Amino acid sequence: MGQHISNDDVSALDFVSEEYLRKLQLDRLQKIVKHTYDNVELFRTRMQERNLTPADIRTLKDIAKLPFTVKTDLRDTYPFGLFAVPLSEIVRFHASSGTTGKPIVVSYTQEDLNVWMEVLKRGFSGCGLTRDDIIQVSYGYGLFTGGLGAHYGAEALGAAVIPTGGGNTKRQIMLMRDFGATAICCTPSYFNFMIEQAEADGIDMHKLPLRAGIFGAEPWSDEMRKRIEAASGIKAYNIYGLSEIIGPGVAIECEHQSGMHIFEDHFYPEIIDPDTCEVLPEGEVGELVLTTLSKYAMPMIRYRTRDLTRIISEKCPCGRTIRRIDRISSRSDDMFIIRGVNVFPSQIETALLSVEGTTANYNIVLYTENGLDNIEVNVEINPALFSDKISEMEKLHSKLTRAIENVIGLRVRLNIVAPNSIQRSEGKAKRVTDNRIKA
Ligand code: AMP
Ligand code: ZN
Repeated sequence: MGQHISNDDVSALDFVSEEYLRKLQLDRLQKIVKHTYDNVELFRTRMQERNLTPADIRTLKDIAKLPFTVKTDLRDTYPFGLFAVPLSEIVRFHASSGTTGKPIVVSYTQEDLNVWMEVLKRGFSGCGLTRDDIIQVSYGYGLFTGGLGAHYGAEALGAAVIPTGGGNTKRQIMLMRDFGATAICCTPSYFNFMIEQAEADGIDMHKLPLRAGIFGAEPWSDEMRKRIEAASGIKAYNIYGLSEIIGPGVAIECEHQSGMHIFEDHFYPEIIDPDTCEVLPEGEVGELVLTTLSKYAMPMIRYRTRDLTRIISEKCPCGRTIRRIDRISSRSDDMFIIRGVNVFPSQIETALLSVEGTTANYNIVLYTENGLDNIEVNVEINPALFSDKISEMEKLHSKLTRAIENVIGLRVRLNIVAPNSIQRSEGKAKRVTDNRIKA
């Protein structure tokens, strides 16, 4: 294949030539399609219905012939129906609860875990982390992929891990300070909570050795990043992943913080129109579809993530040749339609945080009044600004209402609520409550 990559210099895989990368992808795609066809009944049946065999995959473009996999396929085959290796080869399970009913179960061989560690190691080093770092892992440990995923990735890098997991925030801050953590992995909403807790405890985050946060597992806006960076003095990097594909580490920002490099030698990305399922031209926004090129316990072929983004193919200043995906603006499932207008929670977040004096503590309630659907937004403001001066509060109120209206085109019912009245999150924040009366 022309280029030789040593196992020690794992980040070199981020800089391979395009020719090498495409060849590697095709080679891996052909192998994984065959493996899945031979071992997963659901996939084989769907291929047969289309008169396809693994031999029909001759070029990367042929991937478009393959059937999609969707979340309900995982639920319908609960728990082990999509496994492609005998249980004796499985060394780890994870599960994602989702909203209702049975969780979805995912599994890994040792080789799969090695891939996961490899991508995280590449990702962490892309954010400037090294074996000299002390990384606090405050994602939840357990069935959720966040904790153990980040944990083993950080160890693979050779960094020292503080496995605090989520929760017990006061103690987290104490350990962060006393152990001299230089980096942290958790959800952006949880880190916001930590910033507040540190302030309440009289600890100035700017004075701590902490310099990087690897934040993901939920949507967050660029405005939120600015807030976090200003309030803590760290650099906040976006990391993306999902259990079905492997967990965190599918894509992550480099030090330029402008889109997340996707480890496309392991996860093959496509962007489709979620309505027609047609593959969209590069650069257009649509639903991200991922194929695992090197995961054997539970390969996912053309998995529809429901996450909306676009592929950025322009060269990144860092020189990495693996492409980037844009910040995930939202999941298509999170979109709500109010009086004919499509609204994403992230648009409301961006509007709120563009106004000085707001905090990142907000929630959205959808309700029905007189037969019409409406949006209510509750937001906490900086406690120092929360005052009895009615004129001041009114000014801020109308500023916020206008900011949201400018972005979504709808007037919402906005409430400035008392400090600390909105539930803080230690994991994925729940931003939206839907109380609409369904017709
Ligand atoms: P889970 O499998 O439970 O970890 O959930 C995965 C989902 O979390 C993804 O499909 C995304 O919707 C969301 N997610 C993960 N990372 C990010 C991120 N950096 N930005 C936005 N959404 C994310
Ligand atoms: Zn880069």
